[in-house]
Amino acid sequence: MHHIEQVYINGEFVTPHGTERFDLYNPATARVIGQVRLADAVDGERAIAAASAAFSAWSQTTKQTRIAALQRMHAAVAARHDDLLAAVVEEYGAPASRSAWMASYPAEVIAQAIEALEAFEFTTVAGAATVEMTPLGVAGLITPWNSDAGFICGKLAAALAAGCTAVIKPSEMSALQTQIVTEALHAADLPPGVFNIVTGRGDTVGETISRHPHVAKISFTGSTRTGKAILRNAAENFTRVTLELGGKSPTLILEDADIRQAVPLAIQAGLMNSGQACVAGTRILVPQSRKAEFEQALAQAVAAVVSGDPRDAKTVVGPMVSERQWQRVQGYIQKGLAEGARMLAGGVGRPEGTRDGWFVRPTLFTDVHNQMAIAREEIFGPVLCVIAYRDEAEAIAIANDTDYGLSALVLGGDSGRARRVAQQIHAGRVLVNTLTHEPKAPFGGFKHSGVGREMGAWGISAFMEPKSILS
Ligand code: NAD
Repeated sequence: MHHIEQVYINGEFVTPHGTERFDLYNPATARVIGQVRLADAVDGERAIAAASAAFSAWSQTTKQTRIAALQRMHAAVAARHDDLLAAVVEEYGAPASRSAWMASYPAEVIAQAIEALEAFEFTTVAGAATVEMTPLGVAGLITPWNSDAGFICGKLAAALAAGCTAVIKPSEMSALQTQIVTEALHAADLPPGVFNIVTGRGDTVGETISRHPHVAKISFTGSTRTGKAILRNAAENFTRVTLELGGKSPTLILEDADIRQAVPLAIQAGLMNSGQACVAGTRILVPQSRKAEFEQALAQAVAAVVSGDPRDAKTVVGPMVSERQWQRVQGYIQKGLAEGARMLAGGVGRPEGTRDGWFVRPTLFTDVHNQMAIAREEIFGPVLCVIAYRDEAEAIAIANDTDYGLSALVLGGDSGRARRVAQQIHAGRVLVNTLTHEPKAPFGGFKHSGVGREMGAWGISAFMEPKSILS
């Protein structure tokens, strides 16, 4: 059993004022594997006070000092790779393909921030003015459970690069991963108070951070519902926000697509991170003229996906993170059937050969129209919809007929045409015939998928305000 009893404030592991114990689970067994003692609002206040006190000195550090600090963070997080790997399997149920990435990405994203900081221009000239990029102040970083260490490291690296100090509130469900990252970051030997990590509930610690007048910036990744609540709270103090929220991303398969290339990419886009991915391509748009052919190939591919024990090398889809997520997925599969969609693979219940854990059957529906709940609402599990379109214009209209706009995938034989289609899709990122992510590019969403951008110079600027000086 794991017992996590401390939070991290002002450069020290301290016993929180909060006394609530929260159970941690192994999603593959549905058994309790430990407990974390949660921070409360008082701890949130203390963390904000520590970050406020550290801001003046940190905001005046040179680029070289910040790069050196980030390099120490990078080395320290990289050194905990194996511990992170074990934790993401035990606490999150990530299968091999995902867990390897989740263990290496936290260090990689710090390296990416170092590269962006090296190239970052803090001072530019605009006519007669000198424009100085100025750090905002204390940043509140609020992160979800589906990539705990990666989000903590990515947001923190960008905030520190900008000259902000930080209070981090990770998901209460990821306390093992958070503990490892916190130990690593502590070993990086940054000045006390520059970053603070307080694991607690969203409606206590999260609310304290998003309402606090001494927090100048919130960078949040999580659900659209919570994003709206944070935006409302932020209005009170004009707190700047970056919100990375949900998605219902389209995979648009054009008429001239090669089925052998398109189907594996579409399946991978839809089922990545066991379907618990904000960018998951859950609406697969196929031409009416090739509908039967794609239905058959997609159904075969989904039926062949192994869902089960994350420690088994063949597993592609691991368990859902919690019983609540499991219930949510079951509910949407039932809703799809009730709405009249035709199931081509999967269904309710657990996959054959699994028991106890929060395992789900990767599910594919067809005869879906874009107004059905399964086509409009983010399920956050491995449930995919096939939607047929008559022509390119209708395909683009369906792709854009969504509240969200985080990501999209266009697959086609003529890459020029595919790019032209990509330009007409309203999303922060459109991939054309590839799933390769570009960490140097800005990342974020249109519409209800969020506000602002992370990564690269855009990510660092999000923690700053331009100041014009004229003389
Ligand atoms: P969530 O919104 O419930 O929680 C995210 C974080 O916010 C947690 O740390 C939670 O404790 C905290 N929180 C909850 N209520 C709060 C409040 N009132 N004030 C402040 N903080 C609060 O989301 P989740 O269930 O943990 O994560 C899944 C969601 O995250 C999905 O909807 C998914 O699309 C989204 N997500 C988006 C991205 C992206 O980059 N766009 C990435 C991953 C996940």
